[in-house]
Amino acid sequence: MTAAPTPSPTRMRDALLDELVREGVLDAPARAAMEAVPREIFVDPLFAARAWEDSPLPIPGGQTISAPSVVALMTTALAPTRRCKILEVGAGSGYQTAVLARLARRVYAVERRADLARLAEDRFAALGIGNVSLRHADGALGWPEQAPFDRILVAAAAEDPPPALLSQLRIGGVMVLPVGQTSGMQELIKVEKSEFGYHYTELKLVRFVPLLGGVVRAEEADRL
Ligand code: SAH
Repeated sequence: MTAAPTPSPTRMRDALLDELVREGVLDAPARAAMEAVPREIFVDPLFAARAWEDSPLPIPGGQTISAPSVVALMTTALAPTRRCKILEVGAGSGYQTAVLARLARRVYAVERRADLARLAEDRFAALGIGNVSLRHADGALGWPEQAPFDRILVAAAAEDPPPALLSQLRIGGVMVLPVGQTSGMQELIKVEKSEFGYHYTELKLVRFVPLLGGVVRAEEADRL
């Protein structure tokens, strides 16, 4: 008896993306962007064969690369266009950043862990991604020098939307982020800003790592 052949990453990718389109969580532009970014490069080599399973996977520092279905939903809800300037908080592996970079003019990404920021920068360079600026800093404070942003995506959970991020969102802009208790499930929400205030839409129950204050420097990264 011969074992069933392992499906190729490309076939696994296409099957999963087709499924997410059928479920209505992935639109055509976001699908094209996810198809174009090799997710296997953003996961630990040990997990490369599982890159297109729909599950989060561990990355250094006890963090996780979000599941493809969550990247699909967040990217689709954010609905970036070619003209958009995006702020991303919690770049982590850099996979979501690379997906956004294919859809927008420029992505300003912030990551508090130096080890992850470095790995993500190396991947952007290897893939020839030139429209991402990555900063090693506390992203809850946003990126004031570059504000306002047309879109903001946050990949770590806070109890409430951070005030600095709300104020750095352009009128007419959209922010997608998980909010709620960091110990349990959180609600992924979409915030639309108008001249009259904010409109909130609940998208899905999710589980993200917490949005933490301060930064982790390279020399501390092994311990924290
Ligand atoms: N989209 C990323 C998610 C990584 S997990 C991916 O799929 O790889 C969330 C990331 O947010 C972690 O890397 C964590 O270090 C980072 N993070 C948490 N709090 C932060 C903060 N205040 N500022 C910037 N990054 C933060």
